[in-house]
Amino acid sequence: MFSVANTGSADYCSTWKSSLEAKNVSASCQTKPIETKEAKIQVVKRASVEVQTLTDKDRTTEEPRQYDKPSLYAFLNRVTPLMIRELERNAKSTAFAHLQHESKKLSIVQLGQFRQNEASAKFAALCIATDGNELAVGFGALQHDDWCDHQAKLAMFQRKDSSSRAQVFDMDSCVSCVSYNDRKPIVTCGMYTGEVLCWESEEQIQVASRHSGRVTSLQWRPIYEGKRLLSAGIDGALKLWKIRDKSLNVSEEFVVTTWDADAKLTSRVEAAVGVTCTSFSCFDDTQFSIGTEGGYVMVGSLTAPRAAFGAGKKCVTMSYKRHQGHVTSTYFAPHSRNVFLTSSVDMEARIYSQLQQAPVISIVHSEQLVKAVWSPMEQLHIVTATCAGLVNIYDIRKPYVPLTLINLESRLTDMAFVSHEQIAVATEKGLVHLLQLPESTMRTVGTVADLDELVRTLQNTVVDFV
Ligand SMILES: [Zn+2]
Repeated sequence: MFSVANTGSADYCSTWKSSLEAKNVSASCQTKPIETKEAKIQVVKRASVEVQTLTDKDRTTEEPRQYDKPSLYAFLNRVTPLMIRELERNAKSTAFAHLQHESKKLSIVQLGQFRQNEASAKFAALCIATDGNELAVGFGALQHDDWCDHQAKLAMFQRKDSSSRAQVFDMDSCVSCVSYNDRKPIVTCGMYTGEVLCWESEEQIQVASRHSGRVTSLQWRPIYEGKRLLSAGIDGALKLWKIRDKSLNVSEEFVVTTWDADAKLTSRVEAAVGVTCTSFSCFDDTQFSIGTEGGYVMVGSLTAPRAAFGAGKKCVTMSYKRHQGHVTSTYFAPHSRNVFLTSSVDMEARIYSQLQQAPVISIVHSEQLVKAVWSPMEQLHIVTATCAGLVNIYDIRKPYVPLTLINLESRLTDMAFVSHEQIAVATEKGLVHLLQLPESTMRTVGTVADLDELVRTLQNTVVDFV
């Protein structure tokens, strides 16, 4: 019933491919396709340039030519002795001697030094004044942290003989200012303690009043027979003194206040402002310029109080553009009615016209200014002294750079003309230097040197010279 039989192999066809094709699926692997993208390369561009060395081809082996022509030899033979002779003549020439002489005249020459041995060792020379023959120098301490009780000195030197022995007077406190009367032998001293001392022909005159702070300025009224003295103090008071019967009495007194100084009335409280300097006009003896602490610049009048303010203590008639620091000196022009000069610790020397508030010319220095004065001879020249020890002469028509200067290498404390061409400068080391100004700066140049004309052309245009 059962038998062996070979039936052959049985085949079954695969159906997975045909089934994928039926579903339109073309994947042949199970990973996601790899995305590729082409981008530009970031390699630095390169370019070849020519080399700067000679190539072998360019090199030559020739030696430089020797110029030994007979004609050149003959030329040198002929010219060399002539050249040597002319060079020797030039070296000995005096053709430009007059120019060298001129340049010597342009410098300030130091004539001599005044020294009061005892006081110089201890004190600074604080102030100087002269009557032409005599030089009064007040010695004292430069800094005061407290009430002044220094045993200071007042020395009188003979101007024309710096080696002669000075007359020395002991003072109870430091002398802050000295003034000579130009008509009578009267000397006045303003003290740090507020006192005013006065001598007439070596006889001390009784003084009836005093300031309540340092006396900063003493000015004899120039036209009024030399008998009226205007004193100013750090207490803000201006006192007009009168000598009568060997006694100095206050005839009028004014006070400078913040309301006088500040024309725009920005300060609500009326307080006294310390006056640091005054200067009488040479044309109107009732008018004077005022400089104060805080940099206020004003012009006052002795007649204005009665006319404009009744019997009050006001005297200020005009105020001008303020300095950025204390005013150290003011000086009415000796040649012009309306022009005055100021200097300040804000490093500026300014020339004001009474007719406008802003300064007409402003000369900026690199150091604080101690004083600025007009030249008594040349109306367009001013002399300035700085804290660093420089004495400069400026021509105000071109004040970009000083005409000439001298460096005394010591802090200066005061400066005054002792004659038309000589100036005395006091230092903190107790010395007084006598300087000779160059002749060329003391000579009127041309006919256009008219201060009023210059100021008129510059008015309403403030010029800053740095
Ligand atoms: Zn003192």
